Amino acid sequence: MPLYEYYCSHCKSKFELIVSHQHADDVVCMKCHSEKVRRLISTFALPRGGRDDYSLDDSGAPAMGGCGCGEGGCGCH
Ligand SMILES: [Zn+2]
Repeated sequence: MPLYEYYCSHCKSKFELIVSHQHADDVVCMKCHSEKVRRLISTFALPRGGRDDYSLDDSGAPAMGGCGCGEGGCGCH
């Protein structure tokens, strides 16, 4: 199973967790058990993290990493 790194905006701490893919977005902070955690590293190219208005259904071709550079042009990948 993949290793993910999370950041808790509640207690401002980072932690790593090995979770299965279907539970990757369903974790709580290891310290304060808050649900306000954000995944920092992902092996999946899903546009997540503060872009809740982004819809995959409209374009059918999601922008890689959500930066709009295509693939690797900006070095964010
Ligand atoms: Zn926390």
